[in-house]
Amino acid sequence: MNQMFDVIVIGGGHAGCEAAAGAARCGARTLLLTHKIETIGEMSCNPAIGGVGKGHLVREVDALDGIMARAADAAAIHVKTLNRSKGPAVRGPRAQADRKLYRAAIRGLLEAQPGLTILAAAAEGIETAADGGIAAVLTGDGRRIACGALVVTTGTFLRGEIHIGERRIPAGRVGDAPAVGLALAFERLGLPLARLKTGTPPRLDGRTIAWDELEAQPGDDPPEPLSWMTERITNRQVVCGITSTTPATHALIRANLHQSAVYGGRIQGVGPRYCPSIEDKVVRFAERERHQVFLEPEGLDDDTVYPNGISTSLPEDVQAAMIATMPGLRNARIVRPGYAIEYDHVDPRALSPALEVRSVPRLFLAGQINGTTGYEEAAAQGLMAGLNAAARASGGTANRVLTRGEAYVGVLVDDLVLQGVSEPYRMLTARAEHRLVLRADNAGLRLTETGIAWGCVGPERAARHQAFAAAVTDALARARSDSATPAALATGGIAMNQDGKRRSVLEVLALPGIDPALVDAAFPWLRDLAPALRSQLEAEALYAPYLRRQEAEMRLLEREERMHIPDNLDFTVVPGLSSEMRQRLSAARPATLGSAGRLPGITPAAIAALAVALRREG
Ligand code: FAD
Repeated sequence: MNQMFDVIVIGGGHAGCEAAAGAARCGARTLLLTHKIETIGEMSCNPAIGGVGKGHLVREVDALDGIMARAADAAAIHVKTLNRSKGPAVRGPRAQADRKLYRAAIRGLLEAQPGLTILAAAAEGIETAADGGIAAVLTGDGRRIACGALVVTTGTFLRGEIHIGERRIPAGRVGDAPAVGLALAFERLGLPLARLKTGTPPRLDGRTIAWDELEAQPGDDPPEPLSWMTERITNRQVVCGITSTTPATHALIRANLHQSAVYGGRIQGVGPRYCPSIEDKVVRFAERERHQVFLEPEGLDDDTVYPNGISTSLPEDVQAAMIATMPGLRNARIVRPGYAIEYDHVDPRALSPALEVRSVPRLFLAGQINGTTGYEEAAAQGLMAGLNAAARASGGTANRVLTRGEAYVGVLVDDLVLQGVSEPYRMLTARAEHRLVLRADNAGLRLTETGIAWGCVGPERAARHQAFAAAVTDALARARSDSATPAALATGGIAMNQDGKRRSVLEVLALPGIDPALVDAAFPWLRDLAPALRSQLEAEALYAPYLRRQEAEMRLLEREERMHIPDNLDFTVVPGLSSEMRQRLSAARPATLGSAGRLPGITPAAIAALAVALRREG
C-alpha cells in the first residue's frame, strides 16, 4: 500500500464515511482507516435516518453529493415524513432502514468512489511535524501512514465504557473495543477532553411480540426518497407497532433507580436531553402515566425489533421485568440488553468554523467526538471536515464553511465551535433562526451550486440540479405574472374579496385553506408541473411575506457576519473592551464579528468596540 495520502479519515461511522467520500470527491487521495470493514456504516443505535431537523441535515448533505441519503433510500423499509400536517419548513423526512442493507449500501458507495482506499486497522497514535501540525498516523499493527491532513471521527469510542446496572465493560459500543491510544495522543496534543454519555434500549425478538394487540403504524404510500438522486424506493415496506410504558413500568423503574448506572452515580458524563433514557423520563416527567414506544423492525430478514423510546442502563433482569409491563410485550424476549455508554469528547470550541483544531494545523474532528449525538449530525460534520481537509491537503485554505443563513449544517457547526456543548447536541428546527428559508425541500436549490463551486458535486447531480433550478425559476416567474380577476376566481369556486384586483397564481396559492384542485382548475398549466416543482411554488407562496422580511434581516446580519476578525488579532489591546470581554473573546477566538456577537456573555457594547477596531484595521 502507498503509505502517503492527502487525507486520512479515522473511523468508518457516519461522520467518517461522509468525510472520506467528500474528500475523495474533491480529488484528494484519501484513506479511510477503521477498526473493521464489516462495521462501516453501522447504526449503533436506532435503525433510522432523518426526522425533524435531522432530515434537513440529511437533505443538505445530499445536496452536496454526500452518500447518507442515497444509502438510506437503498435500505429504507419504512418511510414517513414527520410533521406532515405542519408547514413545509418543519417537515422532517425520515427513513427507517434495514441495518444490513444500510451498511452494504454505504460500503458499496465508498468502494465505488475513485481515489478512496479503505484499510481495517486501529489508529493508535498521531505524529506531528515541526510546525506542530499533523504528519502521520500510527496504527496498532505497526504502520506509519503519512498524510497532508487528518480527520478524526471516532464517535463513542474514545475511552468508551459501557454500563449495564453495576457492570462496566470497556467498549466503543457493544462488541467493539474502545480507542484508548488515540485518547492518550489527544491528551498529549493538549486537546480539551470531557466525558459525555448516551444510551440504547434493549432489542426484542419480534416473534415474541403480540403485534395484534398493538396499534399499527404504516409508513407513507408511496414512500418519498431522501435523496434527490433516488427515483423511487424499491424495498418491501414494513409496518411498525406502537405501545407505551404503563404506571406499572414507572413504579418498577422508580423502585430500581438505585441500580441504574446513571442514577446510581456510576456515570459522571451528561446525557442527551432530547433523547433521554427511560429512567430520565420517569424522573423528569413524574406526572406522566405513560410514554409512547415505537416498535421498529431492524430489517427485512431479521426478527430483531428496536423499541424506540426506552434507552436504559438498568440491570438486565429489571429490563426484562420492565418490558413485560408494556401492552403487547408481556412475553417479549430481550435479545440484547440496553446499555449506557460513557466516552471522551473534545470541547468543539477548540475548533475553527472549518472544524480544524486551532492549535494543531491539519487536524480536523467531526461527529460524536465533537459532543453531538445522532447519525445525521455526524454525517454533516464529517462532510464539512472532509471537504476542508481536502482543501488543506492540497495547500489551500480550509474555507468550506456554510453560514447559519445558508444551511442547518451552518447552524450546527456555528453552535458547536462558538457555544461548545454541555450535553450531547442534537439538531432541532428551533435552533435555526432562518428556518423558513432552510427547508428540507429546498436543500438542493440552496446548496448544490456551492457544492459545484467547491468541487464536491459529481456531473450527474450537477446536471440534474441545474435543470431543476432553471425549471423552478421559470415556474416562479410564470406564477408571479399569470393572474386572474376575482370574478373569474369566484366562478371557479374560489371565494375572494371582489375588489377588482387581479391575483397572481402565487397569491391564490397563499390563500388560507385553499383547495389545490380549485387552483389547478383556475390555472390549468399547474397540472403539468412535476410534484417537486409544484411544492416549491406552494412553499414560496406560503412563505413569501415572511421570507422577504427574513431576507432583509439576513442581509443586515451577513454584513456583520462577513466582517472578518484576523487570526492574530490581540483582543487584550482592543480599546473599549472590559477584561471579562477580552478574556471571553481570546478564549473563543471567533472568526467573524457575527460569530463574536453570538458568544455567550458577549455584550452589544463589546461588539461595537470590536467593530470600531476592525474598521480601523481594515
Ligand atoms: P460512530 O458511528 O461511533 O463511528 C465511529 C467509528 O470509528 C467506528 O467505525 C469505529 O470502529 C471507528 N474507530 C473508533 N476509534 C478508532 C480507531 N482508533 N481506529 C480506527 N477506527 C476507529 N444517537 C442518537 O441520535 N440518539 C441516541 O439515542 C443514540 N444512542 C446511542 C447509544 C449508543 C449505545 C451508541 C453507541 C450511540 C448512540 N447514538 C445515538 C449515537 C449515534 O450512534 C452516533 O451519534 C453516531 O453513530 C456518531 O457517528 P460517528 O461517525 O461520530 O461515530
